[in-house]
Amino acid sequence: MVHAFPDIESAGFASAETESGRRVRDAANTYRELTGVLPEAANIDGDASFDRHVLASILALALSEGGSLAARAGLSDAELADLFSLWFAARRIDPSTDGMENPVDADEIEIVRELLLENRSSEGDCGRWLAGMIARRAMEPNHLWEDLGLRDRSELTRLIGRHFAPLARRNDKNMRWKRFIYRMMCENDGFVMCSTPVCSNCADYDLCYGPETGASRFASAAQPPTAPAARQTV
Ligand code: SF4
Repeated sequence: MVHAFPDIESAGFASAETESGRRVRDAANTYRELTGVLPEAANIDGDASFDRHVLASILALALSEGGSLAARAGLSDAELADLFSLWFAARRIDPSTDGMENPVDADEIEIVRELLLENRSSEGDCGRWLAGMIARRAMEPNHLWEDLGLRDRSELTRLIGRHFAPLARRNDKNMRWKRFIYRMMCENDGFVMCSTPVCSNCADYDLCYGPETGASRFASAAQPPTAPAARQTV
């Protein structure tokens, strides 16, 4: 199987600023409902606090997008119920909302999930759930850390290092995370993603190693729309 990169975002902020602003408020309010604080006030010093922040970020962003929360978050209904029971039992969130869902490739999600599960470094359900959540959110068009609702790339790097440490060790050249995951998938399947054997000679160098900068999905839509040409994320 040849793995195609998800579409490159080019016009996600082009219009509907009011709708985007509403989603940001919804996501931030959901995050606060889950954790008691807004995302910018999250304390992630300890591992449990960090995991809670990551789970709440993904759920809050996925819920703000409409459609089935379980599907948007990459979980089964049973897994979502277990996650809420274990981490957010006191919180009341309606997991089913109206709205359109992006078409996604279930086979591709499963391949990403399997890669992550093969590289798990944590015990318990959290890492297993996160494998599904990361796999589903990787189908979205922005930087992976953005589509997980995280505040910056460093949180994704910490997440991978904590729950999928073998992958973190293999990304010793600090490739963009989504690009790196797809390269691992290709290598596992015996395919070659790269057009040259040496990265420094490759026309895709910036796609693999360019900075993964951007604004948090909780904040970006509250800002004026950015020029589409400035976005190039894989
Ligand atoms: S820069 Fe080119 S050769 Fe290096 S990993 Fe990316 S696609 Fe492959």
